[in-house]
Amino acid sequence: MSYDTNNIFAKILRKEIPCNPVVETPHTLAFNDIAPQAPTHILIIPKDAYVTYGDFINNASPEEILDFNQTIATLIEQNGLNEAGYRIISNAGEHGGQEVPHFHVHLLGGRHLGNLLQE
Ligand code: AMP
Repeated sequence: MSYDTNNIFAKILRKEIPCNPVVETPHTLAFNDIAPQAPTHILIIPKDAYVTYGDFINNASPEEILDFNQTIATLIEQNGLNEAGYRIISNAGEHGGQEVPHFHVHLLGGRHLGNLLQE
């Protein structure tokens, strides 16, 4: 699984293009999605180069994986999503509809999100 260093999130991490950051930790960056699908729509990405969830879990260090997941939990808390609920999604590959080939999780909330799959 090769990593395309020219993908848009790699450019954001190199600060070649701007983003609207929400949280930054030693291993993780979170920023607002440019085309939000809900009142809260945050993208959480590891700073190192991983393509998919499987790539991240199989190849990242325990510290990176813990930092990434703690960042998601912090954002859920900070955005007050625990009570009404939220959804976390990670698209992978062609069938998953992944547009940007740098592993990321979408955190969505702030409205009823409907059915899981809408075709
Ligand atoms: P995915 O289909 O899971 O790969 O989703 C990629 C997401 O990245 C989409 O929700 C896009 O709206 C979002 N996106 C693309 N470019 C940017 C950008 N420059 N800043 C923030 N979000 C972006």
